[in-house]
Amino acid sequence: MIKVFVLGSRCNMRCKFCMSEEKDLKPEIVFDEISKMEGGMVVFAGGEPLLYDELKNYLEFAKKKGLKTKVHTNGVLLDSVDYLDLIDVLNLPLDGTKEIHNRMRGKGHFDVVMRAFELDKEFTITTVLTKINIGNIEDLARLINELSESVRILNWKIFKFKPKGRGRIYRDMFDIADDEFYNAVRIAREISNVKIYAVKDPDVMKTTVIKSC
Ligand code: SF4
Repeated sequence: MIKVFVLGSRCNMRCKFCMSEEKDLKPEIVFDEISKMEGGMVVFAGGEPLLYDELKNYLEFAKKKGLKTKVHTNGVLLDSVDYLDLIDVLNLPLDGTKEIHNRMRGKGHFDVVMRAFELDKEFTITTVLTKINIGNIEDLARLINELSESVRILNWKIFKFKPKGRGRIYRDMFDIADDEFYNAVRIAREISNVKIYAVKDPDVMKTTVIKSC
């Protein structure tokens, strides 16, 4: 089984399309939920999970139980943590080729993500599809194909932007229609060598998501 823990919305970036709005998850809930698991994978998401001091303890606890571990990170703090060996899979954001990605996430961030792909890990990729990057989907799919020749990419999740969190304020800048989303996913699937999951609504996931209300 897979359990996704949304630790909270704290983040060291300020993406305008950010959909995160959860309060911090209580550590006792995380430990309790992990202790009930008998196999599978724990996923830590945010916000930016690497900002949470408890993350190292959660990962140690999960590894002692023999669970696979995955962390969703924007990559900025990866150089400064001393527990990378406890993480099996890293999920990194990639919203477009260099110029488009930096327009979405901020100047210089594309290079941060590319450096993170050099780590000896398995990876998954998340893209938030918006008005800004939808026209870049073909080039992004080709970029991910190129990356997959040297990097172990397990899958690529394409999320439709949803106006929640900070994204609610900037809705007009990012919002796309459902048919635009599905058409872009179809194009990506035609090009991509990597398994693609399309997520129209991030609040309706098949995996067990544990977050504050
Ligand atoms: S989208 Fe991700 S990296 Fe950007 S502010 Fe939100 S949580 Fe942080």
